[in-house]
Amino acid sequence: MVHLQYNIACCILVLFILSLAKANFQYYMNFKHTAKYFSENKFRLDIEWDSQWAKDIKFGQVSAVSIDPCGNIGIFHRGSRVWGSTTFNIENKFDERKGPIHEDTIILLDKSGKKLLEWGAHKFYLPHGLTIDMHGNYWITDVALHQVHKYDAEDIEIMKGLSDLRKKQYNQGKSLKPSLILGEAFKPGNDDKRFCKPTAVAVENNGDFFVSDGYCNARILKFNAKGEKLLEWGRRSIYGQIPLQNTFNVPHALALASELNLLFVADRENGRITSFYATNGTFHKEYKNLSTIGPLVYSVAYAKERLYLINGPNSHYNVHVRGFVLDVNSGDILSQFDPGQDMDSPHDIAVSQNGSEIYVVELNKNITYKFSQKTNPHRGPAPLTDADVNNPLAISTTEKIILTLFVVTVIFIGLCASLAAVLTRSQERDCVSIERYIVHDA
Ligand code: ZN
Repeated sequence: MVHLQYNIACCILVLFILSLAKANFQYYMNFKHTAKYFSENKFRLDIEWDSQWAKDIKFGQVSAVSIDPCGNIGIFHRGSRVWGSTTFNIENKFDERKGPIHEDTIILLDKSGKKLLEWGAHKFYLPHGLTIDMHGNYWITDVALHQVHKYDAEDIEIMKGLSDLRKKQYNQGKSLKPSLILGEAFKPGNDDKRFCKPTAVAVENNGDFFVSDGYCNARILKFNAKGEKLLEWGRRSIYGQIPLQNTFNVPHALALASELNLLFVADRENGRITSFYATNGTFHKEYKNLSTIGPLVYSVAYAKERLYLINGPNSHYNVHVRGFVLDVNSGDILSQFDPGQDMDSPHDIAVSQNGSEIYVVELNKNITYKFSQKTNPHRGPAPLTDADVNNPLAISTTEKIILTLFVVTVIFIGLCASLAAVLTRSQERDCVSIERYIVHDA
């Protein structure tokens, strides 16, 4: 009876040690998942999605977003028109017989998401870029027209004060016209007078502006306020080769940091942001992170020494499609954000001057997002790889080895203890048998 109790106690002890080791091992194996949970919540505490913002407003394909000097948000969308595989012919020409988009394509919203103004009907054929400069002028790019248009702030202001009917007449009549047009309508080209599907505009405080050109060309142009060309640089990168400094594969969006004298270009298909000195177009720096951001960068915005960018989906890279915040000096990823899940096709991003508000528009889902960021959050750089992003509690390789050794040791001790117990019992049985034998024999 005593031996039976002893055996049971040994078994319980061994089972307890093994389950302890198993729990430790499971903790180790599940650490990544747990850390990811903390990680994602940490990001969302920094930058929060406002799920109610503009949720009831209907858009077509949303291609661009920009913030005006009053903090209102301009959104450029395509109404009922969709950019499909047959929209352009092989020569990048759009069939102008399709006519302009009949619906309003520019919507101005306030910070709460309330609609302030809607205009742009019968003016645009395939909207792409929208930049509202510091004076409130609207700069748009239309990839079907192959043109850049500037609409003056004064004209936009007049429209705000009109009744709906007058607004419609003003918008559709001859009253509202661009004050500056660059490029030749419907005629793609690659010279001083023509663009080919220009993507975006960035405007300096003195009125000089940059144009990224574009889907078929691979260059950046700088103009003065009158529209006279000052600079041009860039050529197409070679597929399969590491892109050189001054090459592009779809320069898709622009952002200016006037205080740093830098222009940032979202070099979309090369998955990078490249920066250039705004005064002369000289290369400054490349920002790229294949493991976390992936091979596609769609748009970039700048505020207070931080870059805000959005990436895109790619079947070869398992990355989250979302927004990223980078330190402009180190290039480190400081934060990441999304609307509770990965985005589908984010196309443009805008950030307020103090960085407190971030807006992202999704092309194919026809959605706009507002995110709020606590300003001046002091935090060290976030990890650079996706594995590290999922594991921000930063268990080091040494710690992993120690933890593994601990688990192995515990299992080993448990096995030794059980073996020792079995051997002891076996020896005792032998002794008892011998004793019994001796007693019996005697
Ligand atoms: Zn685009």
